[in-house]
Amino acid sequence: MAVNTRTPLIAGNWKMNLDHLQAVAFVQKLHWTLKDAKHDGGSVEVALFPPFTDLRTVQTLLDADKIPFALGAQDISSHDSGAYTGEVSGAFLAKLDNRYVIIGHSERREYHAETDEVVAAKVQAALKHGLAPVICVGETLEQREESGPTAVSVAQLEVALEGVPSNADIVVAYEPVWAIGTGQVASPEQAQEVCAALRGVITDKLGEDAAARTRVLYGGSVKAANIASFMREPDVDGALVGGASLVVDEFAAIIRYQKHVGV
Ligand code: PEP
Repeated sequence: MAVNTRTPLIAGNWKMNLDHLQAVAFVQKLHWTLKDAKHDGGSVEVALFPPFTDLRTVQTLLDADKIPFALGAQDISSHDSGAYTGEVSGAFLAKLDNRYVIIGHSERREYHAETDEVVAAKVQAALKHGLAPVICVGETLEQREESGPTAVSVAQLEVALEGVPSNADIVVAYEPVWAIGTGQVASPEQAQEVCAALRGVITDKLGEDAAARTRVLYGGSVKAANIASFMREPDVDGALVGGASLVVDEFAAIIRYQKHVGV
């Protein structure tokens, strides 16, 4: 079995929370909390996904204070520029030093009718502008009951990876819809089963090197109390965290999960 050299990624999706002033206070407090706790910043990558209106402010703060968190956006336009009112292009995001962009979150699929084809177009737009897409997939409870635990996520990822080159820098997040913001967390075994299937899709589509290198995250009601159990699974390389990423002490404890289990 190939040795796992993937750096764990803990990603905080703020959704539509924290304005740009609250964002500054939050990032500073998170940084101080991790510094006080002697988080070395090297063993786990931390990425923050604020609303669009916060990105410039957070980027400036990370830069000025040399805070080692990566920055990401919560969405991207599939277009580069032009008459698309309300949209934000990958070119703009790249100029603000964003490294990541979340694509295909279930809230966008549900509330903004984003299809698998739209997700695939946004993945292409991200890669075109040097952004690493965090491709979200996951099933509803009904879909799990109807077609089993892996079928929906596998099918969604297959479409999203159409035309993606084998050397692309991507992240995949398995987010069962029934576990997002519900407190009804998947078991580590359930997360592992789907994350392993998704790594299989990456192998099929992009090859073994890409599968060995690509981080596959679990997301859905992750908290400080359960993060370590997910991180013990061989195909879970980190977490996409919603609600708990808005509470400094809780998010810092998730980032420091290794300290709790002494690994
Ligand atoms: C999310 O929205 O990506 C998410 C995982 O939310 P929560 O952690 O609140 O379930």
